[in-house]
Amino acid sequence: MTSAGRFAPSPSGELHVGNLRTAILAWLFARSTGRTFLLRVEDLDRARAGAEVEQLRDLKAIGVTWDGEVVRQTGRGQLYADAITRLHHAGLTYECFCTRREIQEAPSAPHAPQGAYPGTCRNLDPAELEFKRATRPAAVRLRSDVQQYTVKDRLHGTFAGVVDDFVLRRNDGVTAYNLAVVVDDAEQGVDQVVRGDDLLPSTPRQAYLASLLNIPVPEYVHVPLVVNTDGARLAKRDGAVTLGDLSRAGIPVAAVRDRLLTSLGLQAGTLEHALNSFDPDMLPRKPWIWSA
Ligand code: GLU
Repeated sequence: MTSAGRFAPSPSGELHVGNLRTAILAWLFARSTGRTFLLRVEDLDRARAGAEVEQLRDLKAIGVTWDGEVVRQTGRGQLYADAITRLHHAGLTYECFCTRREIQEAPSAPHAPQGAYPGTCRNLDPAELEFKRATRPAAVRLRSDVQQYTVKDRLHGTFAGVVDDFVLRRNDGVTAYNLAVVVDDAEQGVDQVVRGDDLLPSTPRQAYLASLLNIPVPEYVHVPLVVNTDGARLAKRDGAVTLGDLSRAGIPVAAVRDRLLTSLGLQAGTLEHALNSFDPDMLPRKPWIWSA
């Protein structure tokens, strides 16, 4: 299988300049290392009708091109179910009936990291299980053997983070992001994951899950986010932040692209041209402040 990089947006709305900057970086990392570049629409959750079309249009407009067909997670339920079955057969899953509120109110397990699932449903006896099954649909959780796992990141170095008994399938039947992303990257030959550094804390869970599924762990590159003038992660409410808004404000797409490229210390122009000056070691490590 070829080695690939990817961009994997959730079609919850239009992409803003922060998402576009991450997409450009994912493209540059993949292309500068001879990888193919894939586009995967992560539509299991938070999908808004029409958003995918807008996102693909804006990616193309900014110059991000991809190889092959766009893949959508909603068409891949069998792959996720197969992975959960494998984990189940290895004794690595259990059913969980807790509501969010019950989890918040449960006393945390001794020595458990902050925010970790307290393990309420981990060792239910058969009678309790039967009773709970009659009251509520179950989520499926990973029976994790570790509380922490360490990953290597191209920009952050070694990063150790919490691994708890995280959810693999929600109780409404939707596959959880952490499972889907690991299965998809492996199945698509993705061995380089470039994404916003807000996802770094989830990465130890994903790498641990990959190890349980005998999947090679990809190279991780968590890139700095774009923030507003208050230092908060950029959002739609921050004014003109999409290509559509900016073009209505008189800023054409090429000017936005150039601003994004120069914010990365790269030459303005096409992305192909920017490849010539792309050096991962020279990338800014701090969030970039966007002011329209
Ligand atoms: N779909 C996720 C998002 O848009 C990104 C997942 C990933 O790149 O692994 O935040």
